[in-house]
Amino acid sequence: MVPSPDNLAAARRRMVEEQLRGRGIRDGRLLAAFYDVPREAFVPPERQHEAYEDHPLPIGEGQTVSQPYIVAMTLEALALKGPERVLDVGAGSGYQTALLARLAREVYAIERIEALSVRAGDILARLGVTNVRWRTGDGTLGWPEAAPFEAICCGAAGPDVPRAWLDQLAEGGRLVAPVGGREVQELVLLTRRGDRFDRRKLCDCRFVPLIGQHGWPE
Ligand code: SAM
Repeated sequence: MVPSPDNLAAARRRMVEEQLRGRGIRDGRLLAAFYDVPREAFVPPERQHEAYEDHPLPIGEGQTVSQPYIVAMTLEALALKGPERVLDVGAGSGYQTALLARLAREVYAIERIEALSVRAGDILARLGVTNVRWRTGDGTLGWPEAAPFEAICCGAAGPDVPRAWLDQLAEGGRLVAPVGGREVQELVLLTRRGDRFDRRKLCDCRFVPLIGQHGWPE
């Protein structure tokens, strides 16, 4: 059964308060973005009643949209203030992209599966999101023509951070990505200081594989 808009809005508010603020997410702009972006629009109709539950959800093609708290932790670590240009690799359903679009000036989103790209493009257009440029292809190569980016994030896990992303990160820029084995990984934050990249672990995690030239083979 498709839940009513009122029930979904109430569930969204509960998710923000309990799963995000309740676990220490404090950035007001970030919490406001989660209040505004309807996660139910990005999941299949038969899973909309679960849109605000505390877990990942399938989005088709064997892929998932991450648990809201993991998305919030990623976005908070990017510390966006508004004027940034952001690279979003593994954009999937477009949910995290829509949140980024509210938090930054311009988002460059890459997804390797054409069917997901087409669907996400439709959803973002329906929601009136206009500051996203979307590409279907291998995001492990980044988006060199649009670099440098003040922030880069990835929704799929590779063995390590692709060199292209490091090269395309602006001075002082932040990069958040899951890295590690095919089954379990660490979500890491890298901050660029000249030719050096400070690295901090945010949490253990489990993401779908990053498949591409500088990720895992198919
Ligand atoms: N942030 C996304 C969302 O909000 O729906 C999460 C999507 S899912 C966890 C990760 C996505 O990464 C999948 O859709 C997968 O197809 C994509 N992916 C995997 N390897 C990729 C690559 N090399 N380039 C671009 N996308 C890739």
